[in-house]
Amino acid sequence: MPATIISGIETAKAIREEIGIEVRRLKQEYNIIPGLVTILVGDDPASQSYVAAKNRTAEALGIFSEQVTLPAITAEVDVLRIIDEANRNPAIHGILVQLPLPRHINETKVLFTIDPDKDVDGFHPVNVGKMLLGEQCFLPCTPNGILELLRRSGVETSGAEVVVIGRSNIVGKPVASLMLQKREGGNATVTVCHTRTRDMGFHTRRADILIVAAGVARMIKADQIKEGAVIIDVGINRVGQAANGKAILAGDVDFNDVVGKAGAITPVPGGVGPMTITMLMQNTLQAAKRAARIDG
Ligand code: NAD
Repeated sequence: MPATIISGIETAKAIREEIGIEVRRLKQEYNIIPGLVTILVGDDPASQSYVAAKNRTAEALGIFSEQVTLPAITAEVDVLRIIDEANRNPAIHGILVQLPLPRHINETKVLFTIDPDKDVDGFHPVNVGKMLLGEQCFLPCTPNGILELLRRSGVETSGAEVVVIGRSNIVGKPVASLMLQKREGGNATVTVCHTRTRDMGFHTRRADILIVAAGVARMIKADQIKEGAVIIDVGINRVGQAANGKAILAGDVDFNDVVGKAGAITPVPGGVGPMTITMLMQNTLQAAKRAARIDG
């Protein structure tokens, strides 16, 4: 039997409706409009399309969004100054700096400059530390989106063998840490694979839930998974260009090869991607509520 398709589009739509309702309530009851600023340095086409999608989604939900686009030659000090202004602007509740940054700009310095209370990407060390400790904080959007997708799809994580491929700070490490937490949506036995892993297939074939975030197009084939496994494909790889100029995307999982063996699978596009943006909106809403000391 072919795998159940876990649609990020459908799940994200349901969550966005909930966010939209809450945004309207904030406006009506407290006259508060959540505000997000996105900062893009340079003209990387993938980054441009991610930022545009984030701003479009914010506007559709009634969240105020401001996009700051800077040329690639912008000095680090100028980026830091813009962040500082946003830190002090009470109408802005969330600050997102689109990564990667040009090489002459120190990413760590930039992320450390964002006020942790406005760090809706969840990359500031204060939020990373709180996440590890299981404290309330802004969770990074892609890992949190994966957990939400699993939860809303009814996938049991408690006691499950979860294998994560990739150990980046934005996906691999935080998703592994969240799956490990002693709470609902976590409680998994987690293994993390990376480029130095000796026998990756040994691990992936044991996985009840396989989360792939390596950035290598279609690297996971049917012979590397367990029958009935839940496959979360985080990869977004540009593998070509359609006649209309649009990029052709592929995940890190060979969907056609795996779909007959997996129990459930996220497609690319339409899987984890829409969840990432949705979690950013949820964090921005939370940031606005926390700033106004509104519970819930
Ligand atoms: P990254 O390059 O920072 O990290 C990739 C990780 O995968 C590294 O830790 C590396 O050790 C590991 N890796 C690479 N090749 C491997 C291999 N052959 N075998 C085992 N491990 C290997 O990438 P990232 O930022 O974590 O992103 C990973 C992928 O997820 C990319 O395709 C990216 O575009 C995508 N992504 C998607 C979303 C989304 O919203 N869907 C969000 C972030 C990233």
